[in-house]
Amino acid sequence: MSEDTQQVDVVVVGLGPGGESAATQLAKAGLSVVAVDRRLVGGECPYYGCIPSKMIVRAADVLAEARRVPDFAGESTVSPDWTPVHARIRDEATTDWDDQAAVDRLVDAGATFVRGHARLTAPRTVEVEGTTYVASKGVVVNTGTDPAAPPIEGLADTPFWSNREALRNDTLPGSLVVIGGGAIGVELAQGYSRFGTRVTVVEVADRIVAPEEPEASQVLADTFAAEGIDVLAGATVERVSYDDGTFTVVVGGRTLHADQLLVAAGRRPNLRDLGLETVGLDPEARAVKTDGRMRAGDGLWAIGDITGEGAFTHTSMYEAAIAVRDILDQDGPEADYRALPHVTFTDPEIGSVGMTERAAREAGLTVRTGSTDLASSTRGWIAKATGLVKVVEDADRGVLVGACVVGPCAGEVVSMLVTAIHAEVPVDTLRSMIYAYPTFHRAVEAALADLS
Ligand SMILES: Cc1cc2nc3c(=O)[nH]c(=O)nc-3n(C[C@H](O)[C@H](O)[C@H](O)COP(=O)(O)OP(=O)(O)OC[C@H]3O[C@@H](n4cnc5c(N)ncnc54)[C@H](O)[C@@H]3O)c2cc1C
Repeated sequence: MSEDTQQVDVVVVGLGPGGESAATQLAKAGLSVVAVDRRLVGGECPYYGCIPSKMIVRAADVLAEARRVPDFAGESTVSPDWTPVHARIRDEATTDWDDQAAVDRLVDAGATFVRGHARLTAPRTVEVEGTTYVASKGVVVNTGTDPAAPPIEGLADTPFWSNREALRNDTLPGSLVVIGGGAIGVELAQGYSRFGTRVTVVEVADRIVAPEEPEASQVLADTFAAEGIDVLAGATVERVSYDDGTFTVVVGGRTLHADQLLVAAGRRPNLRDLGLETVGLDPEARAVKTDGRMRAGDGLWAIGDITGEGAFTHTSMYEAAIAVRDILDQDGPEADYRALPHVTFTDPEIGSVGMTERAAREAGLTVRTGSTDLASSTRGWIAKATGLVKVVEDADRGVLVGACVVGPCAGEVVSMLVTAIHAEVPVDTLRSMIYAYPTFHRAVEAALADLS
């Protein structure tokens, strides 16, 4: 074997949350592992995704809570300052966007880390920066997604933000247009708005957070309206330009001007330029198809956003654990996405799991739904909270197939419904449980009682 060809057990290409976890576990199990990333070990989540965005959300929530003091407890004066938010993201979350600690963890676990762009050149074979690695067990691909920009006239010639610039930014814009009212767009829209930026959200679908239950979209739209965030739904951006520090966005016959423009209108899977064609896969596909053990081919596993099963860190980690078991010849359950949860960290929060009512009807199920207004629950009323719980039942089987919780701690409250769907707990059993008083999760009991 030549100097620039090396024999190893496994190559992990892309070290998002799943790839980093898989490489670490496989190395700890004693395999020789080469772990490759062209950017930062850990991927989007710790540097430009979940963690910094949730630091903004947390800071914005503190401001909103302080502004609620007059409703409950006297007077408050709030003077937002972006400086500590940026400092926390820079110093605590990302160590100034430096991944040395993550690289050290990987190396300490026994993996070999290589920084560079990796390409498959044949089955079980990966080339990085002139070195070819032949992997006897195979290759795990976890290349994730990059921000995508829609083909809007003029957009590419402007210094618009993706999530990366929005989360690295150290000064607050006076005004911001957000193209895209999905989870990333609405979290950042509300975060910036609560610091004093005038925000307009433009969404091509007829409502924001369109994949959620329509009732959830409505609660969030009402909240945004009350907080002074403009939402243009069902609106297509026609043209964008930038001149002298100002963005001009032409949308549905209106012309918006803003100091900054955030494009949060989708993600592009990193599948091109990966050599997928050399292993019989389509580099132009939206996702890499896998079986229940995350196998995408002989000696090839795919995990994370590129599998198209839900672009979340927990999906990536879940799939990594399954691929690791398969590589180590260990038994375990195959991938099962029936009870995949996701949380949009707005205020109110949206926690969802499984199918929406519409998806369940389109799947041909006999659907019953139940819902309740959170404000009518004791805890919701005490907290002056807005929100709801909606459950979707497969009435033929008497089990839940979907649920949506909107309100304080919705991401936590939904977890009991994740259990219910995952374990197919009969609705009758859920109705016979005891729900602590006065909690937000008592609204689940009310929604179950409403099933009809
Ligand atoms: C603003 C924002 C907020 C988010 N908030 C949440 C949240 O609250 N909760 C949640 O669950 N999810 C959230 N997500 C999604 C989450 O970040 C991703 O689902 C998560 O990072 C998992 O992605 P992944 O493992 O597929 O890979 P990624 O994190 O995308 O990492 C892929 C890695 O592969 C590398 N790579 C790509 N191609 C190659 C190549 N050819 N050679 C070498 N390296 C390569 C890249 O450099 C990158 O480091 C958020 C995302 C964004 C953008």
